[in-house]
Amino acid sequence: MVVLGTASQLPTRRRSHNSYALRWDDQLILFDPGEGTQRQCTRAGVSIARATAVCVTHFHGDHCLGLPGVIQRRSFDNRTTAATVKPLPIFFPGDGVQYFERLRHASISHDVSAVVPQPIDGPGVIGKVGDLTLRAVPLEHRCTTYGYRLDEPDGLSVVPERLAETGIGGPDVGVLLEQGWFDGPNGRVTRDDVTITRKGQSMAFVMDTVMCDGALELADGVDLLVSESTYLHEHAPLAAEYRHMTARQAGELAAAAGARRLVLTHFSARYPDASVMGDEASEFHNDVVVAEDLVPVAVPSRA
Ligand SMILES: [Zn+2]
Repeated sequence: MVVLGTASQLPTRRRSHNSYALRWDDQLILFDPGEGTQRQCTRAGVSIARATAVCVTHFHGDHCLGLPGVIQRRSFDNRTTAATVKPLPIFFPGDGVQYFERLRHASISHDVSAVVPQPIDGPGVIGKVGDLTLRAVPLEHRCTTYGYRLDEPDGLSVVPERLAETGIGGPDVGVLLEQGWFDGPNGRVTRDDVTITRKGQSMAFVMDTVMCDGALELADGVDLLVSESTYLHEHAPLAAEYRHMTARQAGELAAAAGARRLVLTHFSARYPDASVMGDEASEFHNDVVVAEDLVPVAVPSRA
């Protein structure tokens, strides 16, 4: 995941509005493109033309003001490059369609962005991004907000030692995996004889909410949990008032949900040094990353 920005509410000298680009095999999913996303993508080497989905949690400006730039850049790339950009689904809370339409048509542009609006009207599976299943779950903020979760399907891994015992090699291995069986030199072999299940990985995006059941549902057992961490515990009353979480709550969320790696982001400008967020959350979880603009964060390798 390429972190494009980490600021809540107001960009600072060091932090761009929060914004994220997740690369997953051949997919490129943008989350909450805040103001400045187009430029941050350029700085980070992320091609907006290659984006395969955009997920917007809610329509506060720090989560969506980058949409006009993303959409117009798609149009520009579509007009000027030989390769036509593919349709781009943009997921967002359905009751914010007016804001989506304004952002989409924010200024003069010949719109050939191939954008496909995907308003969300309730929780559950809302689509596929490549092989990944995309789910939306309501969070509890000051307006309708959905968190997102991506799940990769389980796959199969060939066990080289078992395959070697069968005496099957070369292109025949592909036939065995494809049709499920193959008559090798040592007799019939099935796919199950030479493979093990490779558990699919998962990622959750929990942004702008108080601690709630929806956040727990999204984060349940994920490999990578990206969580808002707007305040420190010492400002917990502010967090409650503005319907945000503290770093401590993000740590508690990751621990309670059994998430493997926690990424803290969406920092209030009152904390110029976000490492204090990491210190606070690390009291509850042992794999905490404090997001920094333009620094990638790896999904932990398969267990
Ligand atoms: Zn918000």
